[in-house]
Amino acid sequence: MDRINNAKFIPYGRQWIDEDDINAVIEVLKGDYLTTGPKIREFEEKLAQYTGAKYAVAISNGTAALHAACFATGIKEGDEVITTPITFAASANCVLYMGAKPVFADINPETYNIDPDEIRSKITERTKAIIPVHFTGQPCDMDEIQKIAQEYNLTIIEDGAHALGAEYNGRKIGSIGDMTTFSFHPVKNITTGEGGAITTNNDELYKKLVLFRTHGITRDKDILLKDKGPWYYEQQHLGYNYRITDIQAALGISQLDKLERFLAVRRDYVRKYNEAFSAVEEVETPYQLENTNSAWHLYIIKLKLEKMNCGRRQVFEELNERGIGVNVHYIPVYYHPYYRQLGYNKGLCPRAEELYESIITLPLFPRMEKEDVEYVISNVKEVIQNHAI
Ligand SMILES: *Cc1c(COP(=O)(O)O)cnc(C)c1O
Repeated sequence: MDRINNAKFIPYGRQWIDEDDINAVIEVLKGDYLTTGPKIREFEEKLAQYTGAKYAVAISNGTAALHAACFATGIKEGDEVITTPITFAASANCVLYMGAKPVFADINPETYNIDPDEIRSKITERTKAIIPVHFTGQPCDMDEIQKIAQEYNLTIIEDGAHALGAEYNGRKIGSIGDMTTFSFHPVKNITTGEGGAITTNNDELYKKLVLFRTHGITRDKDILLKDKGPWYYEQQHLGYNYRITDIQAALGISQLDKLERFLAVRRDYVRKYNEAFSAVEEVETPYQLENTNSAWHLYIIKLKLEKMNCGRRQVFEELNERGIGVNVHYIPVYYHPYYRQLGYNKGLCPRAEELYESIITLPLFPRMEKEDVEYVISNVKEVIQNHAI
């Protein structure tokens, strides 16, 4: 691992790149296509097959994936979209990109995922979609969310940035909602450097996603309004350049081959963490739903601060000093100054706010050594014991 000032430092997450990943990229660099070439189609087919979705659209990053999904849904000014505050800002920013309004629904205090009852309470006649986030890789209560979506005719865009490989009722995340977005940033479960994808089973949505990725321009004869010759193409929507490169897609293909192995290591380390921390009175370990299999993107402990003589910050800083790259996922989105200025205020989602005060993300990634896991366990225990009352 990285060494800073000769001391060990374990980050909270990082990629695992092997020689065959590097060779896959080099092969593309030697070939004819650097961007939109055969590797993108291959990566998309592989992702669709893996998730069990009919289609996958590879795109420049996970945020672009969310933006594209909002476009394909037809979200427009005046619409409302319900999501969770315990997520990366992108899950709500994508709604703002469309000129629409993100509406935050509070979490379930046990699973930390968006609470279906809270979703119901936030529905108005302007509500157009729900963006559930499978936080930490743990699937949301999709049965309930689908019921709500059917009842109110809403589109479901699942933010699966943490959840590639996760399962719900025996189905892979990516094959359930109308669309599911993924990110392949280096901290995520597989990486393409920057990269993302949207999966869908819907033909109409698929066509819109593909258009949006390339300026809203098409050459597809089935879609063209006119056909004026072999040179002819049309811009039918205002899209973006959100293309991913063949170089990245090649890396994605190679990484996807290892995903199950990566997941197995994550699950093994989580078992070790759970075993160690369930014996610590001051710690709440992650809740696991019966019918789900988490992709374990993040491992979060919740401190029972009422049993401690210090706050989360003290524990965080002491772990940092011991070379443990702890983190906090997430600051409630509407706490950010940009959202405050839009009129969102503290008090909106009390359970999310309470959770935020007491959570710490511990290092978890497949490239971690077993000794690193042991090191994290013994130091977390020690720091917490030092502050127990
Ligand atoms: C990482 C992440 C994103 C954004 O993905 P990028 O590829 O970084 O744009 C969106 N939502 C969640 C929950 C994420 O963790």
